[in-house]
Amino acid sequence: MTELYTEAIVLGKEKRGDIDSTVILYSKSLGKIRAFVKSARKITSKLSPHLEPGMLVRARLIQGEKRGGNFQVADVLSEERYKEAEAVKMLRFANDMTAEGEEDIRFWQALKLLLKEKRFDPPAYQLLLHILGFSTQTASCNRCHSKKVDYFITDEVLFLCRPCSRILNIPEEKAISI
Ligand SMILES: [Zn+2]
Repeated sequence: MTELYTEAIVLGKEKRGDIDSTVILYSKSLGKIRAFVKSARKITSKLSPHLEPGMLVRARLIQGEKRGGNFQVADVLSEERYKEAEAVKMLRFANDMTAEGEEDIRFWQALKLLLKEKRFDPPAYQLLLHILGFSTQTASCNRCHSKKVDYFITDEVLFLCRPCSRILNIPEEKAISI
């Protein structure tokens, strides 16, 4: 077993068994990981109040034998919580667009800064997409090939112009304005 400290943002939380939880964290040191939170759903849990989605935390994690997984939250302290709708949307984007166990310090730094400064505008998403390897400069609409791209659709990983987005009836919460 190894122990490590990292800053992280809580992307999500899931029930596990009757009283435990699993949290999805985007961490500075390890990228996206899932971590077990023992007895998280007991009213006496000291960890749980610090592990709500949107919280910026400092966590002490214990990693089991299995390489690249098996994390457990041993201790955690929240510093801030980002819960406005735009922040929730950005956190969902971060969750959808990243794979577990791939550390990316640039993505971490950008995500943390954008949340802190409440920047949820197209340039903010252009920056995140750029770090993830998508060029919004050279992108064209996946449907009509127009060079005027207005949205990135996270679910489908595609770029669309505004008219095509309307034709395809893409719900607003799934479309990132770029
Ligand atoms: Zn189009």
